[in-house]
Parts: sequence; C-alpha cells; structure tokens
Amino acid sequence: MVVIGGGNAALVSAMSAHDQGAKVLVLERADRTFRGGNSRHTRNIRCVHQSADAYNTGAYPFEELWRDLCGVGTGPSDEHLAELTVRESETAPEWMTAHGALWQPPLAGTLHLGMTNRFFLGGGKALMNAYYRQLARRGVPVAYETTVERLCFEGDRCSSVLVRNGGQTHRIRARAVVCASGGFEANLDWLGRYWGDAARNYHIRGPRFNDGLVLQQLLDNGAAVAGEERGFHSVAVDARSPKFDGGIATRIDSIPFGVVLNRDAERFYDEGEDIWPKRYAIWGRNLAGQPDQIGYSFWDSKVQGRFLPPMYGVHRADTIGKVAAAMGLNPAAAEDTITGFNRAVPPDAAQRFDPTTLDGVATRDLLPVKSNWAQPLDTPPYYGIAMRPGITFTYMGVKVSSRARVQLQDDREFVNVFAAGEIMSGNVLSSGYLAGFGMTIGTVWGRIAGREAARYAL
Ligand SMILES: Cc1cc2nc3c(=O)[nH]c(=O)nc-3n(C[C@H](O)[C@H](O)[C@H](O)COP(=O)(O)OP(=O)(O)OC[C@H]3O[C@@H](n4cnc5c(N)ncnc54)[C@H](O)[C@@H]3O)c2cc1C
Repeated sequence: MVVIGGGNAALVSAMSAHDQGAKVLVLERADRTFRGGNSRHTRNIRCVHQSADAYNTGAYPFEELWRDLCGVGTGPSDEHLAELTVRESETAPEWMTAHGALWQPPLAGTLHLGMTNRFFLGGGKALMNAYYRQLARRGVPVAYETTVERLCFEGDRCSSVLVRNGGQTHRIRARAVVCASGGFEANLDWLGRYWGDAARNYHIRGPRFNDGLVLQQLLDNGAAVAGEERGFHSVAVDARSPKFDGGIATRIDSIPFGVVLNRDAERFYDEGEDIWPKRYAIWGRNLAGQPDQIGYSFWDSKVQGRFLPPMYGVHRADTIGKVAAAMGLNPAAAEDTITGFNRAVPPDAAQRFDPTTLDGVATRDLLPVKSNWAQPLDTPPYYGIAMRPGITFTYMGVKVSSRARVQLQDDREFVNVFAAGEIMSGNVLSSGYLAGFGMTIGTVWGRIAGREAARYAL
C-alpha cells in the first residue's frame, strides 16, 4: 500500500499500517532536508488525560476537551467524528512514545498550554525525525522528491498513482492508498477563489508543497467535501517573514499589550478581547479583512519584554510618529489615533493592570473597545511592527467515514482510499481552532487510516 505525504499523519499512518503487517511505501514530495510538512513546525499535541504527570500540569478529561472544541468557531463540523477524535486522543501519547516520541515539560512562552497540551522534546522536527528513524528501522521505504500527481481509479477503487520524480513520471500500483498530503494552503490561486486578490498578500507558514494536488484529484473523482472552503487557521506574522515556511518564529505576540492600526492608521478590532491563547488565531483573519491585508502593532516600553520578541527585531523610536513613519504609515494619523486611544483609557488603569488574567481594564467611549489590558501608550521608547496574515492550514478537505475511508458524493465510499490529517480536518473543525489539535487529528486519524488500509490491503 502507499501513503501519500511525509508529515505527521502520513508517518503515523505508515507505522500503524506496518504494525498490522502491511507492506508500505511512503511518497514524500519534499527532499530529505525539508521532509515533514507543516508537522515539522509544530510543538505540541492536545490530548485527553486523567491526571497530571511529568509533561502536563493537570488533568484534562474528555468533557473538558470536548467543551473546548465546541467553544471554538461554530463548533465541530461532524459531531460523531469530532467526538471520536477527542476520545481516541487519550491513547495517542502512549502510542507516540512507543513509536519514538520524546517529551518535554512545558516551558515559558508556550501560550499557557501546560495543562492541556504535551510538548515534543526538540519540537515537531525532532518528532518527525524520530518517526522517520522508526520507519527506517522497520525497513519501510520513503521515496523523497516524489510528487503524486494523479490517482487512477477503476470504479470506486484506486488502482495506481502517477508520481513525478526526477523529471519522470512513474506509475505505482497499490492495493490501498492513504492520502495524508495536507491542505491546500500553499496554493494561492486556490485560496484566491474564495478570498480574491487578498490571497496574494497572505504568507504561508508551512511549506510550499501543500498545494492540494491530491485533494483536487480526490474531488475531481467524486469525493465528498467536508469543511468550509474559507476555513483556515491563521495568525499574525511579521510582514518581513518569508512567503513560505517561516514556521513558528515569525508569529507576532505583542497584540494584547498595545494597539493595532490598519493601513489608514485606524484601529479595527478589540486587541484585548480574550486571553492570548484563545485569541491569537483570529488575528490572521482580522488582518486578511483589512485594506492591503496589513496591520501595525504598537506598544510602549511599559510592556516591552512581556511577550516573545519578534525574530527580525522591531521598529523603535522616541515618538509614535517616528515608529509609524519607519513602517510607512502616516505619522500624524497614527499619533492622532493613539492619542484618542490614550484618552479613552481609565485613569486607574495602571493600578488594575494584570496581564495574567482578563483584568477588565477597558477603554471608555471608544470604538472598537479594547476590553482588557487597556493601558496608555505614553512611555517612550515606542515600538512597532508590521503584520500580515500567516496561513497555517486550510480546513476544507474530503469527507471520511469513522474508518477514515474517503466518502463519495453519492453516499458510497472509495473501497481502498483513506485519508488522515489536514486533508480531512474539515470533518472535525469548522471555523475555529484549538491549539495542538492539528497534531491530534493527524495522530488519531493516521492510526485509524493506517490500520484500516492495512486491513484492506492484506
Ligand atoms: C508554524 C506552524 C506551527 C504549528 N504548530 C502546531 C502545534 O504546535 N500543534 C499542532 O497540533 N498543530 C500545529 N500546527 C498545525 C500542524 O502542523 C498540522 O495540523 C499538521 O502538521 C498536519 O499534519 P499533516 O500530516 O496532515 O500535514 P503535513 O505535516 O503538512 O504533511 C503533508 C505532507 O504531504 C506532502 N505532500 C503534499 N503534496 C504532496 C503530493 N502531491 N505528493 C506527495 N507528497 C505530498 C508534503 O510534502 C508533506 O510532507 C502548526 C502549523 C504550522 C505551519
């Protein structure tokens, strides 16, 4: 059987199928250095656990994870499959450990996720390397720089895949196929269908390989769609970050500590709406909705050092106007907006400021309100950074059964085609996202897809 992809969902599928005794070939588009897809950028996974241990600071029972999942966006898209994902997450860490994963206790700068999420020692890259080592030890071959371009069907069965490698096309016959090739976030033309020209200004946090080629093949051959076409996870990233593959280090975390202006030097959204772990993932979308898809975060020296520092450095000056000018913003307009903001901050704001909780220190008579941590920007030096939407991954994918079989539009299913990870995350996520749940989806569904594909192939 073949597994398409070389990230978390693919490697978990390959190991899971091999555990069942199947003969597996992994087809990874990237080269050996850049193998591992989005998964190599990750840091943690969110799983149900009944008690604290060396890697989680407290219990996180099913009900709590389920409540958290239902609380994001419009809730799970398919309750049955989402519930299955949450339930199966409980055994994921043990399985991962048995397949080479190493863990670390949560450190500072981990978005306060120590109770709910488990952190990979050395991050996602180390986890992927450990999984690749496992495959090598088991004698499972990985074909790098191998792009699956076509799935060939005979009725409801995929009989072979056409791959491109070294400038040549080869046909690979397979008894079963697991599609774990990620979303279509790196395909700006595809994003442009739903977002228009704005998509040109998006940065893609992961590799350029996740362009949805395999997903498109499945849809063209009658697979049913799961998830919203405009659904994606996105954050604010440094506008100077690379167009692709900037990874985790380009994320900007200054937003709740200051004020965000758009291209016209106007505020447009409540920077203090909720605690940062619950809100960081709406800022990509907020920026996507602004003119030219750009925003500017300003703060002052009172809060400098309270968040992870931007990796390319910041603009710093003794007036707001100079910081604005350095970023190409109208200095007088930026000064005006921030003066207005400062006037709306309550006089006792400094005494009540508490960045560790929703402190309720809100602006008055200002639209949009800043509902927590409203502090005047009055203490030089002032700081600023330009931000763009950074797309993490898309949600729209193919519909699957509880056995990870890809469903057809007419309620039948492909008999030997399975899917795991981002390519089917739309079965679980609708519009919102829960930090660490992308790896949960890949691990839970990779295990199921690998097992079921092996059952069919053997
Ligand atoms: C910066 C960043 C940080 C993140 N942090 C976290 C985190 O801490 N926790 C978390 O849960 N989630 C996190 N995520 C989300 C997470 O990365 C994804 O949910 C998860 O990695 C998806 O796994 P996957 O295997 O489905 O896709 P991927 O890991 O993206 O793998 C897709 C694979 O398919 C290959 N491929 C694509 N097209 C083809 C083709 N045509 N032929 C052959 N191969 C192909 C790619 O090369 C790649 O190897 C983060 C994402 C990013 C970008």
